[in-house]
Amino acid sequence: MAARDGDGWVECACGNKHWGLNGAAGIMIVRGHEILLQHRAPWVHNGDTWGIPGGARDSHETTIEGAFREAIEETGIDTDLLTPLHTFTDDHGDWKYETVIAQAATGLVAHEVNDESHEVRWVDIEKVDELPLHPSFAKSWPELMKLLNNFIGPR
Ligand SMILES: [Zn+2]
Repeated sequence: MAARDGDGWVECACGNKHWGLNGAAGIMIVRGHEILLQHRAPWVHNGDTWGIPGGARDSHETTIEGAFREAIEETGIDTDLLTPLHTFTDDHGDWKYETVIAQAATGLVAHEVNDESHEVRWVDIEKVDELPLHPSFAKSWPELMKLLNNFIGPR
């Protein structure tokens, strides 16, 4: 039950090393036709790329609790203004990354608050793949975009 007991690397059957002994959770915050992306600092793993706020899940946390905690730590948002819509799981067998898709209420403000995050920005869903994306996020993005389009209305 210790805080941050999920911190650590997993040697995964897919051939990669992943962060998060209990898997990891991230949050994709949607506002209109935009999502909140975070520019990761150059010195972190797969740094200088864009992705969603997220990180290792602690053993006592639900996916949504883990994703919300990371969102607060990395972007300073008020998670009372978020409504979870859906959880997408990228399951590697030995490890998984769960992405919580959440709707932002009016008034939600995000800003970079820690060293791991360079900048946060609302990015139009159509323009996401123009950015240099974190490799794992890039892999899941086509499926995530399809899911998102189910939740957001036409332009
Ligand atoms: Zn893997």
